[in-house]
Amino acid sequence: IAAAALERVDDNLLKAANAKYQWHPMVHPKRLEQDPPLIIARGRGAVVEDLDGKSYVDGVAGLWCVNVGHGRKEVIDAIQAQLAQIAYFSPFDGTTTPPSILLSQKLIEMTQPEDMARVLFSNGGSDAVETAMKLSRQYWRLKGQPQRVKFISLMNAYHGTHIGGVSMNGIPSFRANYEPLLPNCYQVECPWIYRNPWTNDPKELARICADALAREIEFQGPDTVAAFFAEPIQGAGGVIVPPETYWPLVREVCDRYGVLLVADEVVTGFGRSGAMFGSRGWGVKPDIMCLAKGLSSGYVPLGATLFNKRVVSAWDDDATFTGAIMHGYTYTGHAVACAAALACLEIVEREDLPGRAAAMGARLLDGLKPLEQSSAVVGNVRGKGLMIAIDLVADKETREPIDPGEGLAYRLADAARAHGAIVRPVGTKLILSPPLVISEEQVDVIANALKEAFRVAV
Ligand code: PLP
Repeated sequence: IAAAALERVDDNLLKAANAKYQWHPMVHPKRLEQDPPLIIARGRGAVVEDLDGKSYVDGVAGLWCVNVGHGRKEVIDAIQAQLAQIAYFSPFDGTTTPPSILLSQKLIEMTQPEDMARVLFSNGGSDAVETAMKLSRQYWRLKGQPQRVKFISLMNAYHGTHIGGVSMNGIPSFRANYEPLLPNCYQVECPWIYRNPWTNDPKELARICADALAREIEFQGPDTVAAFFAEPIQGAGGVIVPPETYWPLVREVCDRYGVLLVADEVVTGFGRSGAMFGSRGWGVKPDIMCLAKGLSSGYVPLGATLFNKRVVSAWDDDATFTGAIMHGYTYTGHAVACAAALACLEIVEREDLPGRAAAMGARLLDGLKPLEQSSAVVGNVRGKGLMIAIDLVADKETREPIDPGEGLAYRLADAARAHGAIVRPVGTKLILSPPLVISEEQVDVIANALKEAFRVAV
C-alpha cells in the first residue's frame, strides 16, 4: 500500500494488511487475531472516527498525549509553514534550526518557578528519561563524584521502554521479557493510599514512603546514588495520586543526601493533572524534568529533558572542557516537531488547559465515583485532573484485584466503545485520560458509556 494512495485504499485491504504485516506494542500478536485493532482514521477536538465511520469520544487522548485535541488548525498550519521552510537539519556539533531555539526559550520561561535553565530535546518520553539518566551520571562525573551511578525509582513506576527506563520501571510485566536489565537501579515503595499494608492516613503514608527512600539511599551508600526518579502522579501504574505531603518530603530527602530529584513529567506535563506541571502542583522544584506527550500533543513526536541551574552549573564550571554532551539523537530538536510544540503550548496557555483539566477531571470523577457503590467489581475510582483510573477487584473487602487473564477490563472497554467512548484497559484497571479540551457533554458521554459498560459486561 503506497502512502500516497492511502485515501483511495480499500478499507478491507487495509485491515488485511495490518493483520498480516504489523506488530502492535503492549499486546500479544495472537490476541489481535481474535480482536483486530481499532483503526482510527480521523479526529476533531475530543472526538475520533474509525475506518468504518463510527465516532467515539476519545477518552484516552491517543495515549495521554493529544492534550490540545485532534485536528487543531493552528498546529497543522505551523507544521505546514515549517515544512515549507525546512523540515530537518542536523542538531549535532553546533548546527540547529530556529524552532528548536524558540521552543527551548519557551520551555525555560514556562518552567521559571522551577528554575530550569537548559533543554536537551529528543523524540519522546523514553528518550527524555534516557537523557536524564545519562546526563545525571555525567553531572556527577563533572562534580568529581563518578561513583554516584545508582538510580532509585518507585514500585509501579513507568519510565518508558528503553533498557534504562525499563530498569527503573516498577511494573513487573514490562520488565520480565527483557531481563537482564541495567544494574544499579532500585525500587522503593510508592505511596498508594488504596493499596498499602500500613495505613489509611495520607500523611502517615507519605512519611513511611519518604522514609523508605531515605533508608534505601542509606543502604546503598549516599555517595553512590545519582538520582531519584518519580512521576508526580504515577500514570501507567494505575493513576496513583500520592498524598500532598509526599513530594515535599521526597525533596527534603534528596537534599539531605545530595541526590538529584528527577520528575518524569511525560504524562503530567502541560496541564493534565490540573497544574501546568505535576511537580508544581505539589509545590516542589525538581532538578531535572522529563517532558514529551503534551509537549507536542502527539502531532509530531518530541521529547525534552530540562535541567535546573544546579545541574547546569556543573557544565558552566567545567574548566577542563571534558563535559561534551556525547548524547543526542538524529532528530534532537526536529524543526517540524518544535514548530508543532510551539503552536501547542500557545493553545495550552491561551485556553488555560490546566484549569480546564482540573474542572473536567472533577466532573468525570464525580460521574464515575458512584460506580464504587453500584458495581460489585469496582474497588476504587481515583484521579487528579484528567488522569483517572478505575480499579477492578474480585473482592471489595480484601481489595483483591481481578484476575487480568479473564479479560474483564477488555470486555468493559469494548462495551464502553459500543456506547461511544474509548477507554483504556490496563490489566486490572481502566484508565481515562481524555484531551484537555473535552467538553462537559463529552465528559458525560464517557461517564454514561462506562456506567452502561458495567451494567452489560460484568
Ligand atoms: N515516562 C512516563 C511517565 C510515561 O508515561 C511514558 C509513556 O507513557 C514514558 C515515560 C515513555 O514515553 P514514550 O512512550 O513517548 O517513549
